[in-house]
Amino acid sequence: MAFSVDTIAALATPVGTSAIAVVRASGPRVPDLVQGIFGAGPLPRMACHADYRDRRGELLDDVLYTFFAAPNSFTGEDTLEVSCHGNPFIAQKILEDLLVRGCRSAEPGEFSKRAFLNGRMDLSQAEAVMDLINARSERALAAANQQLRGALGRQMNELISRLVNLLAQIEAGIDFPDEDLPGEDRASLLRELDELTAGNQRLIATSHYGELLRSGIKTVILGEPNAGKSSLLNRMVGRERALVSPEPGTTRDYIEERLVVGAHWLRLIDTAGLNETPSSLEKRGMDKTLEQAATADIFLWVIDVSRPPPLLPPTLARLMTDKNTIAVFNKIDLPAAAPLPPIPFRTAKVSALQGTGFDALENALIKLADAFRSDVGNELIAINARHAHALAEANRCVAAAKGKFLEIDSGELVASELRGALAAYGEIAGRIDNESILDQLFASFCIGK
Ligand code: GDP
Repeated sequence: MAFSVDTIAALATPVGTSAIAVVRASGPRVPDLVQGIFGAGPLPRMACHADYRDRRGELLDDVLYTFFAAPNSFTGEDTLEVSCHGNPFIAQKILEDLLVRGCRSAEPGEFSKRAFLNGRMDLSQAEAVMDLINARSERALAAANQQLRGALGRQMNELISRLVNLLAQIEAGIDFPDEDLPGEDRASLLRELDELTAGNQRLIATSHYGELLRSGIKTVILGEPNAGKSSLLNRMVGRERALVSPEPGTTRDYIEERLVVGAHWLRLIDTAGLNETPSSLEKRGMDKTLEQAATADIFLWVIDVSRPPPLLPPTLARLMTDKNTIAVFNKIDLPAAAPLPPIPFRTAKVSALQGTGFDALENALIKLADAFRSDVGNELIAINARHAHALAEANRCVAAAKGKFLEIDSGELVASELRGALAAYGEIAGRIDNESILDQLFASFCIGK
């Protein structure tokens, strides 16, 4: 696709001191660049050891460079990767030299955008590249890798071929009122429409998990003042972050930390204590707690075993179930005030002060988080908001098609709605012409990707 003739260049690794840094260039000038800089004809996929001299002949570094010939490169264009010593000053000098030699600075995500435009991957795979770069847990990595290898594309192809079959049948000239579609065919058409809806719904249902993989599983710590919530967070994070104080009611706002537990990425949130008779300041803290709780995925309810058993405010109790809550009996180093009450949740016994019981707590957390996993068929699928939006649009069209079929019995109108659904499917893989949507999407990538 001759959409662009310029050659772009960017640093492909973060700025900072490291063992190596990689500068990348992609576009039609690349073979000339290789010849000009290294005085050698480009040999595809060979790591070559050479001196890098700038345009004035000044030695910049001793580098390893690799040339990838179009279309067998990430972007589908001729590409050069130069690995230099990981000094930001050297990498910058090499980049400047490439610009002097006629390259243009790449925009964020421009390498991936070219890969997409050159048909090296579809849009959902390009998004998976970004998910891969941002993955912070094993599970997020697995989902990104599956998407990159086309897991979502395969599911979409199945839906698309179902839809196209259906459209073909309808467009093959069935004009329902005249032809009087036999009851059998009517039933099969309705069944097909319902199966499409169900297929869309199965994928849409994975978007919540997609959100959890990308932003972390929201885990809210709550309990009475002084139950040991901040101490628990500090233990879990393994460093002092929350303010721990013997005065009740010191965590008046909320504190958030991110951490990896097992294969999962958690957003751990410490909230203000749930006080039965709060001061006005504490009341505000409690309102914030309830606000956080309303969107929590997991609750850690911290209970001080040295005090009489606490009660949960009914607004919270309604949100907490055995699927999302762990009752954490804390301060087991102290004598218990009463026998531990029976509780309809998973439980863990810890001493946040002494750091005991945390393996069991972690295992309980992993069990809850594991259950969020969303598979379709045998594949881990976790779609993003853009995919969910397109699938919801497809479902709206399928529902409208069903309506037109039942109410007006018009093959033409049914087909027209189904073409709408097909267009919505097309957006997921990126068969769209809208340049601005593409720009917006790729701009959220980092430069050099
Ligand atoms: P929060 O108000 O629920 O956040 O409670 P903090 O974490 O601030 O702890 C309140 C008090 O309980 C502090 O003095 C902690 O040192 C103490 N504490 C927390 N966990 C334990 C524990 O496991 N055992 C004992 N003995 N004291 C604890």
